[in-house]
Amino acid sequence: MYGLYAILYGSVKNGDFGMALEQPVSLGKALWRGLTRTCPNCGKGNLFGRFLKVSPNCPFCGEELFHHRADDFPAYLVVAIVGHLIVPMILIVEANYAPPTWLQLLVWLPITIVSALVLLQPIKGAVVGLQWQLGMHGFEKSRLQRFVLAPARANAS
Ligand SMILES: [Zn+2]
Repeated sequence: MYGLYAILYGSVKNGDFGMALEQPVSLGKALWRGLTRTCPNCGKGNLFGRFLKVSPNCPFCGEELFHHRADDFPAYLVVAIVGHLIVPMILIVEANYAPPTWLQLLVWLPITIVSALVLLQPIKGAVVGLQWQLGMHGFEKSRLQRFVLAPARANAS
């Protein structure tokens, strides 16, 4: 079994696991680690180098993170979440109190902007964690090591 995967994935050699953890990470744990902006593999290294710039590698365990393709998906999720929270609140306030428009704008615009900015990084982290856990894009090799090669090594020893 190991030989087949070694042939399919070429560069995977016995013992060539870097500092990858031996235990496979569940989807829930990978999402949580992403939400808390930590590396989905170890949960210790910082996932982001800058605000929305994912570090190429985890500074703690060295896991390759540059394979992610989050693209615009985190922004779409943030718009959906913030929109579904803010719009009903605006409608409730308007229906019950009908404040002047300038007051509505003064209150809701900053709340909307701050909410979106606060949510963007954790949501992007969760998307990266999701892609990493599912082995999407360039994360296939890492997933293979976690779910096939590491358990096989543990069983062999
Ligand atoms: Zn890590």
